[in-house]
Amino acid sequence: MSVAGRVKPWIAALQPYVPGKPIEELERELGLTDVVKLASNENPLGPSPKALAAVRAALGGVHRYPDGACFRLRDKLSRRLDVAPGQLVFGCGADEILELVAKAFLGPGDECVFAWPSFAMYPIVTRGMGATPVAVPLDAQLVHDLDAIAQAIGAHTRVVIVCNPNNPTGTSVGAEAFERFATALPEDLVLVIDEAYVDFARRPDFPDALAWVRRRPGTLVMRTFSKSVGLAGLRVGYGIADPELAGFLERARHPFNVNLLAEVAAAAALDDHEHLERTRRLNAEGIELLTRELGALGIEVWPSEANFVLARPGPGAYERLLREGVIVRPLAGFGLPEHVRISIGLPDENERLVKALRRMIEEDAR
Ligand SMILES: *Cc1c(COP(=O)(O)O)cnc(C)c1O
Repeated sequence: MSVAGRVKPWIAALQPYVPGKPIEELERELGLTDVVKLASNENPLGPSPKALAAVRAALGGVHRYPDGACFRLRDKLSRRLDVAPGQLVFGCGADEILELVAKAFLGPGDECVFAWPSFAMYPIVTRGMGATPVAVPLDAQLVHDLDAIAQAIGAHTRVVIVCNPNNPTGTSVGAEAFERFATALPEDLVLVIDEAYVDFARRPDFPDALAWVRRRPGTLVMRTFSKSVGLAGLRVGYGIADPELAGFLERARHPFNVNLLAEVAAAAALDDHEHLERTRRLNAEGIELLTRELGALGIEVWPSEANFVLARPGPGAYERLLREGVIVRPLAGFGLPEHVRISIGLPDENERLVKALRRMIEEDAR
């Protein structure tokens, strides 16, 4: 018998995560040099200059192991968020925080409940532990149906995840609906609030997830330096929880899961308020532009609290945009073959996308 007869069946059955198409790959395929990537919700302004300077200064020290406790980053962030240092858990991206939750709370027979379409890693980390994902459809407006999620929770549910704002729709739930939902949850359930896009949320009634960490033991808020802060390539994210839950996740992690450059960059970026403010402003302007321009083309666009918009340009749009040198995110894998997710880019990148879509529509009219 080969190892194929011994591999855990849930691992053999996994469908790996499909990342956004890299710029270099499409440029090679098309022979282009000016491909625009609006596919992975990266920061179009690039990383914070303060983070870059910190990385340069730290490069000579990479022969040493990093600080496994992330002392500096932990200290700074705990002050910033007004939580105890022991309430923070750092990871190789927020993706790893998800995996730590799965490792600590999910196994064969257990269920993890989340909305769908939502972040593609939820079913992957759940299945990776041999547990069962329970995907609850979004409502007609493509917003989390919190009542349906509550109903889907059963005796085997160990983890429930609310992605707010939601990826790939940009939609969000407000404080009142969230309060009703969180108050009624069983106490022995881990509630994960994935706030990867919280820095972009603008609605005044956006839920205060950190307040829920204080109010409800067993609540974990997940955030990342990959999106608003522009450090996706360095891989650093974190969770905020009560000390008991944080302690379990700490036990589950590798000792040096955040690399040295990632830690110094993240710590330095925390001081770069200007970069974050520019990022937010550019994003708000980009959402406004795409909503207006795509609307004028007759393309449906959903309201977004994130750094991307969900749009419905019709079937085949992803492939046709690729031929125009614009990479967006196809959503056929989520059962939305007519929709794409478009990350907000620099003004000229957004314009490139609008022009490409306009050409597409003109072509169809001919
Ligand atoms: C991008 C993203 C993450 C994780 O990002 P990392 O790069 O692993 O920190 C988590 N949740 C959602 C919803 C995301 O979009």
